[in-house]
Amino acid sequence: MTDVFADLVGQDEAVVTLRRAAASAAALLRAAAPAASRAGAPAAGGADPAGGYDDLDALAEQFDGPGTADDRAGAEPGAGMTHAWIFTGPPGSGRSVAARAFAAALQCVHGTGCGHCPGCHTTLTGTHADVRLVVPEGLSIGVNEMRALVLRAASTPSGGRWQIVIIEDADRLTEAAGNALLKAIEEPPPRTVFLLCAPSTHPDDISVTIRSRCRIVPLRQPPAGAVAEVLVRRDGIAPDVAEWAAAAAQGHVGRARRLARDPEARQRRDAVLAVPRRLTGVGAAFDAASALIEAAEAEAAASVAEVDEAERAALQTALGAGGTGRGAAGAMRGSAGQLKDLEKRQKSRATRAQRDALDRALVDLAGFYRDALTMALRAPVAPVHTDTAALAGAGAQKWAAEGALRRLEAVLECRAAIEANVKPRIAVEAMMLALWKG
Ligand SMILES: [Zn+2]
Repeated sequence: MTDVFADLVGQDEAVVTLRRAAASAAALLRAAAPAASRAGAPAAGGADPAGGYDDLDALAEQFDGPGTADDRAGAEPGAGMTHAWIFTGPPGSGRSVAARAFAAALQCVHGTGCGHCPGCHTTLTGTHADVRLVVPEGLSIGVNEMRALVLRAASTPSGGRWQIVIIEDADRLTEAAGNALLKAIEEPPPRTVFLLCAPSTHPDDISVTIRSRCRIVPLRQPPAGAVAEVLVRRDGIAPDVAEWAAAAAQGHVGRARRLARDPEARQRRDAVLAVPRRLTGVGAAFDAASALIEAAEAEAAASVAEVDEAERAALQTALGAGGTGRGAAGAMRGSAGQLKDLEKRQKSRATRAQRDALDRALVDLAGFYRDALTMALRAPVAPVHTDTAALAGAGAQKWAAEGALRRLEAVLECRAAIEANVKPRIAVEAMMLALWKG
């Protein structure tokens, strides 16, 4: 029951596609195995994990051919295995969870992603020798990292199944790194599988040429009920807390878990949701803008501080700081450039963390005005924020649907402006004024 796909919340369609592909992949391995091992009678208990995909030649052909953009996941019967995949979906929908689960299913000794065998287990815990995971922390994945990765991915899988490369945030590849990856995807080593994760297949996120050679697995925003269910089952969170957190996180699984578990995350959310009733005038609007920006900065600083410090210490050790002798002194002389590089990378990571924190706050705020709007319209839908529903109801009465809609739009415009590189403070001040005036 709890196989490797169990944590992929609310993505039934994608799971069907991935199960099918894993079964096809297992059939390919069996077909490639020495004839002797296939000649005997089916093993005891002989359920065929490839169930129904026994036309191995057709599968092999499918595997060799490039996937096309039109290969809509699960759209055609017998959608089999291919060597390059892109998982797309909104933040929190589980792109990397899906990629890891699929990798586990490919390495599963039963070919199904049973969740219990060594192949499944080591893949999910990140210790499988043939699964490499790239998690960029700065703004981009560089070409050297990618070249080294591609080279290692071309080697024969030590476990006899597949060499798998998972690239989280493939939208952060530099152009040169993208080209190095493209070359590998265009001429794939026979047993290598690339799993990319990106917000969408828009050319801003993934190059058209890479996309054209990958099969796309679109993930959707999971429904709150499904998110709550997984919080209860997997994380042992009380059902009422899980339901509240799932609704408040608006389909973002990781965010829901943080809200359920982390009191500081709850406090930050409370502060954001206090904004609407604090907007009593121009001065208050500017104060609220400052508070929102500063809270995002503080949250981001806290989230990167530990990693920054660890990196600096690691670099200094590598450069021989604290060492003695001529070697260490020479290394220090050449180290200024590397330290500068590191600081640049850390700064770009901090900027991204600030943007992410601010965006989470704006999504919470949008949820509040969305609640006010649905109440003004008497729409039969559950509120996003059950704990501020009364306040949203008061807003609905005061503003009517038009006023609630204008305020919701002001929040969404602020997000769009920041996305388009308007200075966050300017965008947030404009939004607060609009929220106050309506
Ligand atoms: Zn398994």
